[in-house]
Amino acid sequence: MKLFTAAAPLREALEGLPRPLAFVPTMGALHAGHLALVTAARAECASIAASIFVNPAQFGPGEDYERYPRDRDADARLFAQAGVDVLYVPSPPEMYPPGFSTFVEPGTMGSTYEGVARPTHFRGVATVVSKLLNVIEPDWIYLGQKDAQQTAVLRRVAYDLNFPVHVRIVPTVREPDGLAMSSRNAYLDAQQRAAAPSLYRALQTMHAALQRGESVADARAQALAQLDPMAQPEYVDLVDADTFESKSALAPPAFIVGAARFGNTRLLDNLYVEK
Ligand code: AMP
Repeated sequence: MKLFTAAAPLREALEGLPRPLAFVPTMGALHAGHLALVTAARAECASIAASIFVNPAQFGPGEDYERYPRDRDADARLFAQAGVDVLYVPSPPEMYPPGFSTFVEPGTMGSTYEGVARPTHFRGVATVVSKLLNVIEPDWIYLGQKDAQQTAVLRRVAYDLNFPVHVRIVPTVREPDGLAMSSRNAYLDAQQRAAAPSLYRALQTMHAALQRGESVADARAQALAQLDPMAQPEYVDLVDADTFESKSALAPPAFIVGAARFGNTRLLDNLYVEK
């Protein structure tokens, strides 16, 4: 695996790689969820480029940008073992040089759910991923279902801005107790870690209630009752899988989405309702 911190030599290396080329963007602190994206890419593409960039533009004031876990060497080893060919690790000034002033602004899809708690988050995600797509020019981008609203926003960005890239969504990798793997799980203390799987249980409860024909309001009430008492819920809802608009009845494809705080740590999860 070759590692690059600058775009020009990276582009040169990518030119020599067999196509199709997969791209796996990450913020590092790798876990089995990230590696599942690489495994899926390996099965479908001839070459794989990955990136590690803790993107300041997608963190709001007072969020965890400074303390977000960073271990480039360990991550590089894991990516190399998983079969990544080229790793791009740009610095913040490489991505946002002095005078940087152009942003990709997602529409209403970026201002609901995650966008309520994090109003500039999806603008930061859409901007950095657009830049990475322009540098890497992959045939496929691999994204995790774990961040379902992010996948919906990025699909929209790729379509609206004519990026010639296909989007592949990889199912969420979970701990044995159901907790979705996340780099932020490392922030949880023992009590919070024990409570955290109740978020996914809540989404499963909501799904079961909706399948029984109960209303979204009743199903949500049952879901919230499943949450551990220490959890502070932010939202639990049924949304259209493509538009992320709230739905009043279970009509697939849809996501049951939820977010809750466990202490200072905000966790999100979702359950995909297939056709
Ligand atoms: P992050 O480093 O958190 O920005 O995530 C990078 C990519 O990995 C995103 O496409 C995420 O959706 C995906 N991802 C994160 N956690 C998981 C997981 N538990 N299972 C599958 N994909 C994941």
